[in-house]
Amino acid sequence: AADNKEEKNGSTGAVAGRQAPNIITRDFVFDYLIVGAGFSGSVIAERLASDGKKVLIVDKRNHIGGNAYDHYDEHGVLVHKYGPHIFHTNSRDVFEYLSRFTQWRAYEHRVLASVDGQLVPIPINLDTINKLYGMNLNSFEAEEFFKSLAEPKEYIQTSEDVVISKVGRVLYEKFFRNYTRKQWGLDPSELDKSVIARIPTRTNRDDRYFTDSYQAMPLHGFTRMFETMLNHSNIKVMLNTDYREIEKAIPCREMVYTGPVDEFFEYRFGKLPYRSLEFKHETHNTQVFQTAPVINYPNEHLYTRVTEFKYLTGQEHAKTSIVYEYPQAEGDPYYPVPRPENQEVYKQYKALAESIPGVYFVGRLATYKYYNMDQCVAQALSVYKQIAVKA
Ligand code: FAD
Ligand code: UDP
Repeated sequence: AADNKEEKNGSTGAVAGRQAPNIITRDFVFDYLIVGAGFSGSVIAERLASDGKKVLIVDKRNHIGGNAYDHYDEHGVLVHKYGPHIFHTNSRDVFEYLSRFTQWRAYEHRVLASVDGQLVPIPINLDTINKLYGMNLNSFEAEEFFKSLAEPKEYIQTSEDVVISKVGRVLYEKFFRNYTRKQWGLDPSELDKSVIARIPTRTNRDDRYFTDSYQAMPLHGFTRMFETMLNHSNIKVMLNTDYREIEKAIPCREMVYTGPVDEFFEYRFGKLPYRSLEFKHETHNTQVFQTAPVINYPNEHLYTRVTEFKYLTGQEHAKTSIVYEYPQAEGDPYYPVPRPENQEVYKQYKALAESIPGVYFVGRLATYKYYNMDQCVAQALSVYKQIAVKA
């Protein structure tokens, strides 16, 4: 049983060339240990398994799916345990790859923001400013309006620069400043421009949160999609397991790590900040709780936003479940914090990571990048190709 697959198949060439003597390779039950069963780990596990590699994927949580995990709550409503996850991508490759494991439900996400006592579309669009100021501008006039408010900047470096240079200080303060301070515990002037640049400004009436060419939700949920992905005779899934508990007992030839990179190296260069959230889930005995899938609260409350899951999932149910997101410094790592000083620390970890043979660092936590799900899939597919070329 301990024989490795290449030997059994009699395949030689590159494999035999880079292997240690047989006496050692025979001791490997698994070719790869994959740490983390989220998007990044699961994609690589599936790809390697389909090449005939034996894969052990471990997660310290009691479920697969990482932060995209969804489940039916005690009332039977499908909810996302770690906050709202909406799939969107411009990558046909990523969409087609995931389509092997799920059917889809078309879904275009829309968000309202509670500002000055009204609920208005965010990203800011023509309707947002008309409603907010009781105006009746057309797109051309809206563009002029934004121009009259904008404070142009020669160098756009921070998240504050991004908004103020486009729509000026007043709208910045109504929609972005306080939300960002709550979400990150930092002023937008202390955050890289890429954070708020995620949110565009529009002069038309498009009120979709995303404009990607593919926007859809897995028809039966994310977890079902992950189950299909990992349901392969070459993949063993081990939950409730920190990899450090088993790495010595179950030696594997190579490793793919998708946890926090600083933790892997025992914080040798200091702790990298990851922003956390506390999720407060509630179920209400009514069909509909709020008028939009997500409502953002930039200036009120300690939470940033409220999500009503049935809009996302399309589920019909007499009750409805919602989640409040309360940002925290401590807790499970959810967001890398994009700012120059953190990038400097990350660079040290990255150099160290690249110097360790046989370990690949992949995903939002291990490469310290504010990645959406589709970007994790794209990155994982590309790392898989690097691994496959060498194997
Ligand atoms: P993760 O999903 O974090 O998986 C890493 C896994 O590794 C975890 O399950 C963890 O338990 C495990 N692990 C860590 N250390 C160890 C260890 N020592 N031993 C064993 N296991 C370990 N993206 C979108 O595209 N659209 C959205 O709408 C969206 N909304 C989001 C909302 C929130 C609140 C958050 C936090 C993220 C959102 N994202 C969204 C981003 C999305 O969650 C990530 O891009 C994606 O899930 C990251 O996948 P990953 O596999 O890299 O990491
Ligand atoms: N943001 C904001 N006001 C909003 C929505 C977003 O200031 O109403 C800023 C905030 O800094 C947030 C960032 O834009 O962290 C990115 O927002 P997004 O909705 O993409 O965040 P995520 O879904 O990743 O938490």
